[in-house]
Amino acid sequence: MVKNLSFSYSKMGMYKECPQKYKFRYIHMIPEQPKYYFAFGTALHSVMEFIYNPEKEDFPTLQEALLYFDTVWNKTTYEQKGYASIDKELEGYAEGRRIIQSYYRTYTGKFIHPLSTELKSTLDIDGLNLISIVDRMDYLGDGLIKILDYKTGKTVQREPDQLYMYQKVVENSPLIKTLVQQKDPSVKKVRVGQLSFYHLPTLHEMTFERAPDKEIFEFWQKVLNVADCIRAGKFDPTPGEQQCRWCDYRNLCPVFTGKEYAGGNAAVVSFKKKTILKSEPLPLSEQDELSSKIDRYGDLLKETEQLRKDIIQLMKKNKFSRHFGQHYRAELNCLEKMEFTDKEKVIEFLRSSQLLGKVLVPTQSTIVGLLTDPTIPTKTKNELKKLAKKVEHENLTLEPTE
Ligand code: SF4
Repeated sequence: MVKNLSFSYSKMGMYKECPQKYKFRYIHMIPEQPKYYFAFGTALHSVMEFIYNPEKEDFPTLQEALLYFDTVWNKTTYEQKGYASIDKELEGYAEGRRIIQSYYRTYTGKFIHPLSTELKSTLDIDGLNLISIVDRMDYLGDGLIKILDYKTGKTVQREPDQLYMYQKVVENSPLIKTLVQQKDPSVKKVRVGQLSFYHLPTLHEMTFERAPDKEIFEFWQKVLNVADCIRAGKFDPTPGEQQCRWCDYRNLCPVFTGKEYAGGNAAVVSFKKKTILKSEPLPLSEQDELSSKIDRYGDLLKETEQLRKDIIQLMKKNKFSRHFGQHYRAELNCLEKMEFTDKEKVIEFLRSSQLLGKVLVPTQSTIVGLLTDPTIPTKTKNELKKLAKKVEHENLTLEPTE
């Protein structure tokens, strides 16, 4: 018996974006680099699943939801999430908490018990093993289902193929039919009543009615066509500036290497290179001018910094807090401050002491603020202090002398 082709909306999306990319990912099984936006989305989806757990009678409080978010978030490092730096990860963390807080401000007291959350269903249909995970389904009565798909990106737009795929799965899945019949034994047929993209960052909901059967039929022919192409081994690259720029497989891709990737030690086949748009190079005279300006700018910055240091040193040596030049007046103020320079260590400590949520984004001032927070035990404060060093900050200002 021929095995059904394992398929999903995201696989179809990747094939349509570039069949060669699909081949790298699903035929050669080369994983992509972690992407911060997926990690961010996964963490928020987990929190929504936690809030709307169909097994639980009561809904969690905001504090419980935030704590759950912390636990999910802190399971991986910023690199594993795909963030470029710990600072970027902390921005994501703060944004995640902001979204949860604002969700609770809007929905506390209005939560409803869903039919399911993050339900994974597989459906064998027309030679495909269709896998789909529906973020949330609510039962509307009379065999009608509302499908909610949470979006966590910057914007949200209608993705008809995704809606069609949901409709196809939900209306044909025996698992979903059983779930509905457990709620309402009189139901003979499950149908989609409403589809909704819910944008968590803005709490904006886009709802769509059930698509007509004709549209679903046409969509399904497209799916079967893509499946046929995959089975027939059609994986020609379709390069484009946008998709290639962010593609993790550029180093292996025949478009860029000129050679067909065969994996392992397999033979390397010659491949015709395609042209990718590049910006026009600058004329040589302009390149020289630009280079010399860059060098001059760098040298001036260096000279300025050295002058600053010399002025501070001389003023400190002579115990001056103010001094005059011909055209400017300099003021020097020295402040002693706590400085937390080993950011990774400090953040690790804040995570393990459950203090990260208190500072949202741990900047110098928010961390220093913890040292005077009356709700934090002295022992914890002392441990935190050990991670800081006292440094003197010199603030030198220059004013025209008139
Ligand atoms: S680099 Fe471009 S052409 Fe090559 S696999 Fe990626 S998206 Fe396709």
